[in-house]
Amino acid sequence: MAEFTLELNDDQKQVRDWLHGFAKDVIRPAAAEWDEREETPWPVIQEAAKVGIYSLDFYAQQFFDPTGLGIPMAMEELFWGDAGIALSIVGTGLAAVGVLANGTEEQIGTWIPQMYGDADDVKVAAFCSSEPDAGSDVASMRTRAVYDEAKDEWVLNGTKTWATNGGIANVHVVVAVVDPDLGSKGHASFIVPPGTPGLSQGQKFKKHGIRASHTAEVVLEDVRVPGSCLLGGKDKLDERLARARERAKKDGERVKNAAMATFEASRPAVGAMAVGTARAAYEVALDYARTRQQFGRPIIDNQGVAFQLADMRTQIDAARLLVWRASWMATTGKPFTSAEGSMSKLYASEVAKKVTAQAIQILGGNGYTREYPVERMHRDAAIYTIFEGTSEIQRLVIARTLSGMPIR
Ligand SMILES: Cc1cc2nc3c(=O)[nH]c(=O)nc-3n(C[C@H](O)[C@H](O)[C@H](O)COP(=O)(O)OP(=O)(O)OC[C@H]3O[C@@H](n4cnc5c(N)ncnc54)[C@H](O)[C@@H]3O)c2cc1C
Repeated sequence: MAEFTLELNDDQKQVRDWLHGFAKDVIRPAAAEWDEREETPWPVIQEAAKVGIYSLDFYAQQFFDPTGLGIPMAMEELFWGDAGIALSIVGTGLAAVGVLANGTEEQIGTWIPQMYGDADDVKVAAFCSSEPDAGSDVASMRTRAVYDEAKDEWVLNGTKTWATNGGIANVHVVVAVVDPDLGSKGHASFIVPPGTPGLSQGQKFKKHGIRASHTAEVVLEDVRVPGSCLLGGKDKLDERLARARERAKKDGERVKNAAMATFEASRPAVGAMAVGTARAAYEVALDYARTRQQFGRPIIDNQGVAFQLADMRTQIDAARLLVWRASWMATTGKPFTSAEGSMSKLYASEVAKKVTAQAIQILGGNGYTREYPVERMHRDAAIYTIFEGTSEIQRLVIARTLSGMPIR
């Protein structure tokens, strides 16, 4: 049996240091500019592609780290650099995971390379699930996919919203309703290949934070995709729908709510992003508190400041431990009997919001200006309690898992 350790092995330390170097030397210096421009930082993504950070291979390597720490370590370092730019770099991964989780080997081999492009011609991908009336309530999704048997094509109609890279992606992965009676069990995922007629970008959102990451509506009007673009294939879908119909007859309510608990394994990755942002703000605040002099001494000499820093660091470390535990559980196949994945995302995202706000306070007037990075970090941190399930939804999942009760 493996000895218990929280120490990273030599390979992990090497990857962590390499990522940290990229975050420090390439991402950080570009952060303020792309935040102001509110545009996708294509040159930075290209740099990441050149060194191998923007590629499926890199994420696959981290994903298959047997300790489970590869992905959280990578996310923490990149998001320590800057959340908006890092999301532009890892956003394609959301769509890639959608294909890896549900696609056939042929679909994986065909579409994932087109999601990333190559270092000379980088591309991005988008995962489109949320809709104007279906955010937390995924079962209310309205985008329809109807099968045209004569042509072996699926026809997609609807409007997606909040899609990271939506409209600028080379490949879009779109979740749509194939059987409206089955709630979230009646959904299926489709590839929309590059240049498919009928897919267009709607509104591009001007956001509070992570402004270097493109977020937009995606409009689908009679979008026709070949039968081969249904992820997993038609036979698998038909079998899955038949099973869901059987279960729905027995217990309709449980089918309707199942979607909320299906992200336990991916949520720790978002927790790790939050830890990265929180750590970045804490480090700026610690440095500032040591050097800023008021009343003839560094402000850290005041317990009121020093204790805040002590709490910040304690909470960041606690958040990281929850993230690492959940990631280890996911990789080693441990059942999430207490919704440990949701716990890690809930705690880390709340810590990021709190710690970045405290960092502004410790920097005083400077913290409130764009001369220092903590106000950007605080704006960025607000996303973590919203996407991949809001804090309230995490609490709902945890409370339901612990109690076994259908808490509303
Ligand atoms: C920058 C950004 C990027 C995103 N990227 C993507 C993406 O790439 N792809 C994608 O598909 N989606 C994406 N999203 C969408 C994101 O996942 C949703 O915003 C999120 O799931 C919340 O949905 P909503 O915004 O509709 O809020 P709502 O569901 O309307 O929630 C509003 C408020 O009500 C609360 N609430 C709702 N239901 C309950 C309940 N049952 N109990 C208690 N409180 C409740 C929520 O917690 C929240 O506080 C992104 C969003 C943002 C902002």
